[in-house]
Amino acid sequence: MNILLADTILTMDPARPVLREGAIVFDENIEEVTDDQAAIERWREKALVIDGGKRSVALPGLINAHTHLEFSGAATELNYGGFIAWLSSVIEKRETLVRGLNKAFIDGVLEDMLRGGTTAIGAISSYGFDLESLAGAKQRVVYFNELIGSNPAAADQIFSAFLDRVAMSDERRSDRFNSAIAIHSPYSVAPALVRKAIALSQNRKTPLSTHFLESEGERRWLESGSGEFKGFFEKAFKLEEPFCSAKEFLSFFADTKTIFTHCANAGDEELDMIGALGGAIAHCPVSNRLLGCGLLSLEKLKNREIPYLVATDGLSSNYSLNLFDELRSALLMHEGLDLPLLARDLLISVTDAAAKALGLNCGRLASGYAADIISFKLSGDVSDEAALPLQVILRAPSAMEHIFINGERV
Ligand SMILES: [Zn+2]
Repeated sequence: MNILLADTILTMDPARPVLREGAIVFDENIEEVTDDQAAIERWREKALVIDGGKRSVALPGLINAHTHLEFSGAATELNYGGFIAWLSSVIEKRETLVRGLNKAFIDGVLEDMLRGGTTAIGAISSYGFDLESLAGAKQRVVYFNELIGSNPAAADQIFSAFLDRVAMSDERRSDRFNSAIAIHSPYSVAPALVRKAIALSQNRKTPLSTHFLESEGERRWLESGSGEFKGFFEKAFKLEEPFCSAKEFLSFFADTKTIFTHCANAGDEELDMIGALGGAIAHCPVSNRLLGCGLLSLEKLKNREIPYLVATDGLSSNYSLNLFDELRSALLMHEGLDLPLLARDLLISVTDAAAKALGLNCGRLASGYAADIISFKLSGDVSDEAALPLQVILRAPSAMEHIFINGERV
């Protein structure tokens, strides 16, 4: 048994969010989280003591629910500011983006993420190039095999190649690595394929992920077959009209547990539907800004009780996969919201809410949860408890001092 002592513990447990001069007692799972000094003394005698030190803060390891580790290289070649401009540059520079990509490179990216406090990842994989790295990662991984295919005539071939990738990732399943299914988007996957992938995911009882209403162009294309997607699709895929409307696409997701990524251009009706489906939304504010997609309204989600998960997306649409960087950007971008409350919600989004959406038993420091814990030292005191989440986001260092996953120091 281990006991980690910390001046401040942010538990993400709504019953008692903050403990001062507390301790987390854990093996693989958390036995007890307490600020009862007599209990701490008793545990100190029989457990391995790890003292976080003065001004230390412990919290659950962070969870990045939506990232792409493929296409991590050569992002300096990409165009930013508009979605189609960016997508065209990705297609044009595809060879360059993939060239720098090898296992050592992705392993390095994963190490950086870990050092910054990310102990679990929802990774979207388009090709399987990242399988070796992610199956051997120290972090917990939900590996989303992504289906993409806009040619209905080739549907069988596309699906069979997709099933091969799913089978390869299934072989690597372990206590830290789970494989799951993602559908690229309403504009890039033919409905027959969408239905098959959803049925497969339902049988597997794993979470499902899809991009949805990321850009204004996507919205116009799905609504009326017009806008900047029109010329692009005609040229690139000889597609003259959208497969389905946004609402039709959502209707396929009944009885699923789905993470809808972006939704920056979702209207009230689509958000109502996502709320009714019990969906969660992965929110990638930096990516949305760089691709000119606007800003998701967190207030609209709150009104509908839709959980959101701040995530980084991939390095082709971000400069950092560090979640504290992303949280700092989110704090600054959602300028209308109450700052301390927003900070609290943002931390929940990358811990407890993300764990629930990914089907993981972590994200909270409470008895029975997996012992995924990070800790670091603040440079000064924070006497106002309500200001703690904000100060933690603002001041978190680029490298954590202690990191435990499943109770193991990493
Ligand atoms: Zn994405």
